[in-house]
Amino acid sequence: MSVTAAAGPAKLIVAIDGPSGAGKSTVTRRLAERLGYIHIDTGAMFRAVALAVSRLGVDPDDDAALARLCRSLDICFDSLNHLQLNGEDVSVAIRNPEISLLTSRIAAKPSVRNHLLYLQRKMGMNGGVVLEGRDIGTVVFPDADVKFYLTASPEERGRRRYEELKEKGAQVTLAQTVAEVIERDEQDLHRKVAPLSRAADAVEIDSTLLTLEDVLANMESVVKNYRMSAE
Ligand code: C5P
Repeated sequence: MSVTAAAGPAKLIVAIDGPSGAGKSTVTRRLAERLGYIHIDTGAMFRAVALAVSRLGVDPDDDAALARLCRSLDICFDSLNHLQLNGEDVSVAIRNPEISLLTSRIAAKPSVRNHLLYLQRKMGMNGGVVLEGRDIGTVVFPDADVKFYLTASPEERGRRRYEELKEKGAQVTLAQTVAEVIERDEQDLHRKVAPLSRAADAVEIDSTLLTLEDVLANMESVVKNYRMSAE
């Protein structure tokens, strides 16, 4: 699915999927920087819908109401790559643990997935993008040029999330954070619509024992090999 500019290398579509806390956000941001690509955090888009659901008191199980709500929302990324919801920077508000759980719940609804699928395809179709999510390589861009599945053990993912939250001053325990990671995995793996799953042609990277630099070097070499084989 490479998009070739008039001059210069093809602008690839790179998909990075995996469970929560595997380090996708940092890895995706850094890989996008190195490639000179745009980074699209699709989880942030689902979180923005959850925030609107919570603020407006919409029933998270009413698919028709969710569809109406989605149509009324303006979701985009600003020049700092912060998520804007109806013109408001909600990049901090969407990270609240309550919003995280509500996000997995509404992400299982076809109305929400269909709406965001349309937006994500529109944002990524011209290439030069690294998209992170749960179903990028399987559903959103099944023809993506390069696909990764980034994972790590639930304990390690919980520990990383805990450190992150503690740094932000959140009052949480390690056990609570690991339990939340496992609960979100359950919701994401077992939902009927677009469950978290590894695309057959995705390169799997288990980051439990790897540094960020190891993961990035591994990904860059996969992208480089893809370019060479496509030439
Ligand atoms: O990636 P992040 O943890 O911010 O995603 C929040 C939630 O959004 C996930 O737990 C998942 O339920 C949902 N999500 C999804 N499909 C995506 C991205 C995120 O269902 N492509």
